[in-house]
Amino acid sequence: MAAVWRNWSGLQRAAPATVFRPVEETGIVAAVREAGVRGWNLRPIGAGHSFTPLCVTDGAQIDLSGHAGIVAVDGGRATVRAGTTIRALGPLLRAKGLNLANQGDIDAQAIAGAVGTGTHGTGIRFGCLSSLVSGFRLVTATGEVVDADAAGDPDLFQAGRVSLGVLGVFSTLTLDCPPAYSLREESRVRPLDAVATEFPEIAAAHDHAEFFWFPMADQVVVKTLDHTGDAPSGGRRRRAVKAMVLENGAIWTMGRLSRLMPGLTAPLCRLSAALGGGGVHVDHAERVFPSPRWVRFNEMEYAVPAEQGMDCIAEIRKWFRRTGTRIYFPIEFRRVAADDIWLSPFHGRDSATIAVHRFAGEDFTAYFEAMAAIFANHRGRPHWGKLHFLKRADLTRLYPEWERFAALRCRLDPKGLFLNDHLRAIFEG
Ligand SMILES: Cc1cc2nc3c(=O)[nH]c(=O)nc-3n(C[C@H](O)[C@H](O)[C@H](O)COP(=O)(O)OP(=O)(O)OC[C@H]3O[C@@H](n4cnc5c(N)ncnc54)[C@H](O)[C@@H]3O)c2cc1C
Repeated sequence: MAAVWRNWSGLQRAAPATVFRPVEETGIVAAVREAGVRGWNLRPIGAGHSFTPLCVTDGAQIDLSGHAGIVAVDGGRATVRAGTTIRALGPLLRAKGLNLANQGDIDAQAIAGAVGTGTHGTGIRFGCLSSLVSGFRLVTATGEVVDADAAGDPDLFQAGRVSLGVLGVFSTLTLDCPPAYSLREESRVRPLDAVATEFPEIAAAHDHAEFFWFPMADQVVVKTLDHTGDAPSGGRRRRAVKAMVLENGAIWTMGRLSRLMPGLTAPLCRLSAALGGGGVHVDHAERVFPSPRWVRFNEMEYAVPAEQGMDCIAEIRKWFRRTGTRIYFPIEFRRVAADDIWLSPFHGRDSATIAVHRFAGEDFTAYFEAMAAIFANHRGRPHWGKLHFLKRADLTRLYPEWERFAALRCRLDPKGLFLNDHLRAIFEG
């Protein structure tokens, strides 16, 4: 019997007929050709951290976790194998005197998986991880290996950097990396009303700024990260224990309490926000960016034009007040710089991202549908790896280069080798 594959939250499951595990590029080519001959759909998989059914198939999956490591470094450019996790990449890059320019909340993703969906961190001067890619090597549906960069094949380059694994399988990615750096992390509790006006200033004053809002509290936790020449402050173990007990443990316990006693949700939100401030911490960047996420959840996140971010939060706040809905899980607000990647949620516009969550196992439909309607009022574009309900007709309106991407996809993969039901609904409608 085929082994069952599950994504991180357990929402998506698949029983593929086979899983290819190549360790060399020749193995990727062989897998693509064999899937074609056998008539299997082929879905590349990273670390399975997408909430959407991007990797689900009863055909074949291709898992590149054995195809990992750095291939070459040339100045500030590192070419890495597609299956390298961001966690593994940190120390490998540092050993070469480099770092990723930005990272998201976790580092468990494979670099190809993170790039494939436009994974991002926060910072008004920083684009998503895909925008750090200056070239890639892709195995297409015929088994041909192609190299793409801005000069050689601009269309494939702009399409491929966020391509959900529908144009082919990345073998390697070349990333522009800054010299290795350290970060100074600080968190503080502020009233939401104050942050609503202060945030543009906070975001401009710090390299990376975001806030977490427990929707039934009027306080938010503002977290900032800044490049620093200060020596690491130590206390890594203390920080890990704090993350485990105060962040994950408290979120789990308070979330459970609020489900058992919904009347407690508002005070629990207020208590969690009040506990969210923390001291100052300095460490290597790759150790500061990620936080452990042991509590499983499902998530929806949209990118709206930056100037509409706070209006969108205000509308969400009104919705909570109007409906009396009790949700404990914090809402995360970040900023991402514009890029020119065809299917990037940040294409052509500086963006604010707003993420909403429900614990794994809870029914998220009503909450996420209500939030999706608010995001739609602000021309929101969904994160490709996070839950959304959009179909092709909606997406063509949101992405100016949608048809160009769709045409290129048809040309590279006319038989739909790389499509599953979810992707067919998106690309074929
Ligand atoms: C706890 C948690 C925290 C998160 N935090 C953030 C965050 O801070 N910021 C953010 O933006 N997102 C975040 N995400 C979302 C996550 O970064 C994305 O969904 C990302 O795509 C997951 O990477 P993965 O390696 O697990 O890829 P998968 O989910 O396995 O795959 C993602 C996509 O990449 C494609 N792919 C994978 N490998 C290849 C390859 N070799 N060639 C071609 N295509 C490939 C797949 O086909 C699929 O379409 C988070 C998710 C979780 C569960």
